[in-house]
Amino acid sequence: MLQDFKQLYGNAGEIRVFRAPGRVNLIGEHTDYNLGFVLPMALHLATYVAVSASQDGRLRIHSEDRNETREWALNELGHLGKRGDWTDYPIGVARELISAGFAVTPANLLIRSTVPEGSGLSSSAALEVSSALALLRGQSVDRKELARLCQRAENNFVGIPSGIMDQFASVFGEEHAAIQLDCRSLDHRLVQLPGGVEFVAVNSMVKHALAGSAYHDRVRECASAVAHIQREHPSVASLRDISIEQFEIVAGTLPPVIARRARHVVSENARVEEFVEACGVGDLEQMGKSLVESHRSLQHDYEVSCAELDFLVDTALSTEGVYGARMTGGGFGGCIVAMIQAGTSECFEKQIAQAYHQEFHLNPQMYLCRPSGGAAEVRNFETIPPKS
Ligand code: ADP
Ligand code: MG
Repeated sequence: MLQDFKQLYGNAGEIRVFRAPGRVNLIGEHTDYNLGFVLPMALHLATYVAVSASQDGRLRIHSEDRNETREWALNELGHLGKRGDWTDYPIGVARELISAGFAVTPANLLIRSTVPEGSGLSSSAALEVSSALALLRGQSVDRKELARLCQRAENNFVGIPSGIMDQFASVFGEEHAAIQLDCRSLDHRLVQLPGGVEFVAVNSMVKHALAGSAYHDRVRECASAVAHIQREHPSVASLRDISIEQFEIVAGTLPPVIARRARHVVSENARVEEFVEACGVGDLEQMGKSLVESHRSLQHDYEVSCAELDFLVDTALSTEGVYGARMTGGGFGGCIVAMIQAGTSECFEKQIAQAYHQEFHLNPQMYLCRPSGGAAEVRNFETIPPKS
């Protein structure tokens, strides 16, 4: 990567490299912006940003995936509008760093990533967090503040009202564990996954155009559910504040669609707890069951699945050695995650690929999910993957 950097920007003094991982969310979907519970794990798939100081007052960013270099004068960052392309992520981050009082100085950046884009494995948070560390070039930053700042970049500049999960997982990832996170308090704990099972992410290779607008719709529908529920329970500030039992009593007073959206979120929060408990006692069947219930709830109540994801989940469930499967990420395409018996991934992948190709004429990419460490400076450059 250093060679590529020099080729692009010339011999430019000290080059540092920062890495931030993507993540797969095991359970707790569409709960983060409702301030509920999630259980992501950071992945070995990650975004790497190489950086060095630039001498001409400008900020330059090159994405290898886009094969595109863009540049800005540093003093124009404050009054830029969003462009609606990939540069909004690092520029949004630069702006948030500046408003938080960090020194953002002229620099050249090179972005390399192994996180598939737009697949629900959070290439966006990996890009935000790695760009933030690169722009900071070693300035110390509180890790929760780093996650929040990157979330603000996505909310304020990119314009997606997403929760904190992706950025938090990218910053706080740990080897050998998933992270149970309370998206309101940011309290979190590591969850050891039982032996004997593995998680495989299967990319449907589709992303339906509906994804963006539906996300905004769901955020609005959840806010509307809270407003209705508050008539009965004034202390409910978000859908994480009401139990299933309490919810079912008021559900009939909500418009039917709004009730279904809320039912997903309320029951999904409970399922995170249920899954983590089952994890703790090694109850693999129950873990699998929670995953499937999560999928059905996303499919029927929250209505963010699609034919491709449903097909992948149903095919996985009819495959031997599979405990459970669900869509993961925002939906309308992207990935499913399947929990399978350890050592069976080769057979699993073969069967899924064959069935999916037959049905949709697409070759799904698959990733055996290993929990990995969170965002950090790369000390050993040999760990940086080659240019793809
Ligand atoms: P996800 O986070 O699930 O991968 P998003 O739609 O949230 O999907 O984010 C994908 C967007 O992030 C891409 O469309 C692109 O704008 C940006 N992005 C991610 N990785 C890169 C990269 N390596 N180079 C340029 N842009 C990237
Ligand atoms: Mg994203």
